[in-house]
Amino acid sequence: MKRRASKRTAAYVGLLAAAFAAAMLASWAFGRPLDNAAYDYWFRLYQPRPWQTQSAILEIDEASLVKLGGMRHIRKPLADGLRLVAAARPAAVAVDVILTDEGDAAEDRALEEAFRETPNLALVSLFQGDPVRWEDPKPEFGRWAKAIGHAYAQPDESDSVTRSIPLEMRAARDRRWALALEAFRLSRGQPITESVSLAAGGSASEIQVGDVAIPVIPSGGNVAAGALMRIRYLPPGRGVPSVALADLLARPALAARFAGKVVFAGVTAPSMLDRLFTPYAGGQTISGIRIHADAFETMAQRMFLPDVPMVWTFLFSLALAIAAGLAFRYLPGWWAYAGGGAVVATAMVTPYVFFAHQRVLPFASPVFSAWLAALAAAGFYHLVVRRDWRTEQSARERYQQAMHFVTHEMRTPLSAIQGSSEMISRYALPEEKRKQIALLINSESKRLARMVEIFLNVERLTAGHMELKHETIPVAEMVEACIARVRPLAERKHIAIELEPIPAGLEIAGDRELMEYACYNLLTNAVKYSPQRSTVTVAGWRDHGHIRIAVRDQGIGLDQKEAKQIFQKFYRTRKAEESGEAGTGIGLSIVQQIVEQHGGAIEVVSQPGEGSCFTLALPAAASAASATAAERH
Ligand code: ADP
Repeated sequence: MKRRASKRTAAYVGLLAAAFAAAMLASWAFGRPLDNAAYDYWFRLYQPRPWQTQSAILEIDEASLVKLGGMRHIRKPLADGLRLVAAARPAAVAVDVILTDEGDAAEDRALEEAFRETPNLALVSLFQGDPVRWEDPKPEFGRWAKAIGHAYAQPDESDSVTRSIPLEMRAARDRRWALALEAFRLSRGQPITESVSLAAGGSASEIQVGDVAIPVIPSGGNVAAGALMRIRYLPPGRGVPSVALADLLARPALAARFAGKVVFAGVTAPSMLDRLFTPYAGGQTISGIRIHADAFETMAQRMFLPDVPMVWTFLFSLALAIAAGLAFRYLPGWWAYAGGGAVVATAMVTPYVFFAHQRVLPFASPVFSAWLAALAAAGFYHLVVRRDWRTEQSARERYQQAMHFVTHEMRTPLSAIQGSSEMISRYALPEEKRKQIALLINSESKRLARMVEIFLNVERLTAGHMELKHETIPVAEMVEACIARVRPLAERKHIAIELEPIPAGLEIAGDRELMEYACYNLLTNAVKYSPQRSTVTVAGWRDHGHIRIAVRDQGIGLDQKEAKQIFQKFYRTRKAEESGEAGTGIGLSIVQQIVEQHGGAIEVVSQPGEGSCFTLALPAAASAASATAAERH
């Protein structure tokens, strides 16, 4: 019983481990889209407390382009706009407009003048492939810039949503920091430093500006991009305030909005550039300049969203799988399912709680792990425990039936004894009759005693409390005695019992009474489960140091599956039940117990409808072995 339980626990643990491994594999193989979807969902769900933005946008929108002569003539109005901005004393100005090529001389001069007046100016370089290099703004512009950054975002390869920007980008050995990062450090008047962070497992570096440490996540496929920073986008409608260039030029007083701010100037006109998806998206897009501004705000507010270290994600997922396993192992009934549900809910909600606390815990890995473990555990308990319960149930039913039968059986000899004894006491019967009745009482009470004995013996045998006698049993004699006892039963059905000659000197060692019971039981079964006028054959022979006793019949037989079950207590085949023969289904289990206690075995070969052959294989008595040795000489 104990062995079975521990075996089952091992199977259960194995199953859970497999479920966990499958979950890890699944989240590794196709968890990414799910992680992304969850991340975007949290973005929409979680509204950070509103903050006072430290940046503002000077946008070259569609209306400005139309009014100011298009992109080709933008440098002059941009120059005018920047002058107004500069006069309002901004903290820094980042211009995301490509200024690498030669323009109209007068316009370029005007822009150069404006740049000269602009404090903490940052411009952008263009990444060029073939050969890979940075193309900086014209020197006339570049010389006024305190920093030259890059203006690239990193849309996710799988769904094109921009969740992060690379803080650094390399063209060959030449590196540019992100425009937003440059604007941030200019506004803080601090340099950018790098360090390897042990907290992130040493794999990712940390970028530091003054006392602000920016945790970074390793970049994915893009080799040029490094040190990704997730952007804590401002909710739509509460974004960084902006002023259109055309409006600023028309109403210079609007420049006051840029006072003390970090200004991002760039194009927002949809016709001019690809616009990018944000987690808020829902089909809506955002301009590059807004992404810079939001990235800047992320740094300025320190609203970073670093990853939870991988090992913690793994341990959390593992803990969930274990919790699901424990729930189904130890909680009773429906509580187990409630517990499993709670584990799954924890898996689904915890990453969001982390997100609200500015940590990104993957969604797929804990959720897969919780679901698979809970399903596996539920399945296991549903199938295995239910099955056990059913077996137990049917064993109990069979036991009740047996008890029913036993009491019924006992009633017959009891009432015979009762009736007979009454007769003796009431009537003056002739001596002859009294003797007859006394004999009947005697035989009936013996039968009763035998029945009780057998039932007690089974229990004791099963519990291993029974002491076996060690006798030498001559096989031929024992078999003949059993046949003699069965004969009346066989004759009623006109069944012939044939005994093949058993060699003299065949002896087994053991408890004679029990052996006889075993042998007798096979014989009664053969007679019970055979049709009228058939033959039962009994044989005994020596086989490799064992003695074999076989009882063959031409009866109802059994199939393979039944052959395995008939040795269970109280099991009866359907055919046996239908045969109308009384039985408890306990006989063969006793026979098996007896034989095994003697170091032997019972075998059955049978065909439904053709007949069965039950064979006992028993160790030969020591004296018998020497007898054979003598025989051979
Ligand atoms: P019982 O005979 O009281 O039912 P047993 O334990 O002796 O119980 O046998 C168990 C079952 O095995 C029987 O009910 C019957 O279905 C099957 N069985 C036993 N012996 C035979 C046989 N010789 N032929 C066919 N079926 C048998």
